[in-house]
Amino acid sequence: MSWQALLKKGWWIINHPFERQDPRYWRIRLMQSLLLILQLYSGIFVILNLTLFGYYTVAAANLAVFGVILGIQTDLRRNLNLERSANWLTGTIIVFMVIYVALTQGRNYAFIWLSMVPTIAFFLLGIRRGLQVTVPFLLLTIGYIVWSANAWPSYAINLPAFFNISCALFAVLTIARHYEKSRAEAYAFLEERNGELQRIAITDGLTQLHNRSHLDAVLDSEVQRAQRHNTELSVLILDTDHFKVLNDSYGHLVGDQVLIELSELLREKIRATDILGRWGGEEFMIIAPNTDAEGAVELAEKIRTATAKHRFTDEHLHLTISVGVAELNEQDTLISIVRRADEGLYQAKHDGRDCTRLGKTYTKV
Ligand code: GH3
Ligand code: MG
Ligand code: MG
Repeated sequence: MSWQALLKKGWWIINHPFERQDPRYWRIRLMQSLLLILQLYSGIFVILNLTLFGYYTVAAANLAVFGVILGIQTDLRRNLNLERSANWLTGTIIVFMVIYVALTQGRNYAFIWLSMVPTIAFFLLGIRRGLQVTVPFLLLTIGYIVWSANAWPSYAINLPAFFNISCALFAVLTIARHYEKSRAEAYAFLEERNGELQRIAITDGLTQLHNRSHLDAVLDSEVQRAQRHNTELSVLILDTDHFKVLNDSYGHLVGDQVLIELSELLREKIRATDILGRWGGEEFMIIAPNTDAEGAVELAEKIRTATAKHRFTDEHLHLTISVGVAELNEQDTLISIVRRADEGLYQAKHDGRDCTRLGKTYTKV
């Protein structure tokens, strides 16, 4: 991106693909703000130290921080490696704090800035590494304050003040950890629930196969893909024969069990790349990518004969299925290929059931 474009858009803005409900979105937002603040802060102090105060070594240190921050920002923008950028940013902030505390020697209660570290570390690094970084950092800095307090001006710190500071810092650490933990767990919980809801939305409750609306969506994308890449695609519609009679003789509950067991049987017979779902009440669909009519009829026959042979657990009853098959052609739409498979099924029923027929005549009108 050019300098003009960066300036126009706001150079601190990091482009990323994450949605607001993704924790990474907020991680980047925090990093973006911290990088901007640190950049402005160190940039302004480079200028002030060079022009007004004449602290050239401090100006050089500010310039170094400015450079590191610019580096982290550029790397984050280019590579979006959140982990690496978070490590670098937290590390830089910690180094920056330590230098600041050491330079100010307790004056103006500058060490109050240390309390920022737990919050930032937990948010950017997560609970485990946040704790791994924060505890040693606070222990070391408090140790350093104890060790060097004698050398500091007497007004800078006394024992009660030191006690207060240490306790307050660890209170901030505990709260930050608790906050991050509850946040992370809430996200994990929502993500899990979301995944479960998505699964339920595409699954048929009785057979646990894909449901009709998912089959529609898959078929749509598979038809488009096959036509774009000029590959084969076949659709099979399988309908159980005289299911109404079965229901009437054995009852609906037995009928349900038979559908569940039949689904298992179908699942075993298809390839991993085939998509199987419940098309309607006692009808199933198989979408078979990279399969021509011949292959699809072969698959249909395999399933049909296996079903006819199968002894269903309940009442050891026999069941047969009829199958309609259609292969995709260039003019086909989602609707026309299904109509042709349906036509094949109609023919199979007409020819006495327990057989497979290829739908041939129907083309797009
Ligand atoms: P055909 O050989 O012509 O397909 O006859 P059929 O009796 O199978 O076809 P029809 O369309 O007349 O009846 C389908 C039957 O399937 C009627 C309906 O009650 C039953 N059915 C549909 N969904 C379910 C279900 O979820 N559970 C049970 N037990 N029966 C179902
Ligand atoms: Mg039917
Ligand atoms: Mg039927």
